[in-house]
Amino acid sequence: MKLQKRIGLVAHDNRKKDLMEWVGWNHEILSKHKLICTGTTGKLVEETLLKHQKKTNKTQIDITRLKSGPLGGDQQLGALIAEGGIDLLIFFWDPMQAQPHDVDVKALLRITVLYNIPTACNRSSADFLISSPLLMEEYEPIIKDYSSYINRSVE
Ligand code: PGA
Repeated sequence: MKLQKRIGLVAHDNRKKDLMEWVGWNHEILSKHKLICTGTTGKLVEETLLKHQKKTNKTQIDITRLKSGPLGGDQQLGALIAEGGIDLLIFFWDPMQAQPHDVDVKALLRITVLYNIPTACNRSSADFLISSPLLMEEYEPIIKDYSSYINRSVE
């Protein structure tokens, strides 16, 4: 991981307000990093950051908007993680409502564990991640060695 991190941001509809408050609160730090979001979350993140930046006369946002989560955005994020394209994930998923793309949500959470990606699923975890000194340092996460699995014999 380089100094500038690639941060994935996703929130389910009932948790978008929560995430936007958090984004607003942390706009200065977030603006220093590359943000990769699912479609609707990304639109709101961009609006929120622009609103805060206008107050400080800065307009510098590096944001990529993928497809909307239920339309494949979560899978795109998972693919980016597998390719080493995401360093950190802030994922405010909804514990109170089943999602049409529940399997994609589960797949995304699984791949974050597989690739040892720091992941926050609630606000206090997100606060701890964003305030970690490691955010502004180079950091190499240890990835489990899967070579015995890759080279297993399959009859
Ligand atoms: P959205 O997707 O940002 O496009 O709403 C989020 C999700 O449901 O995974």
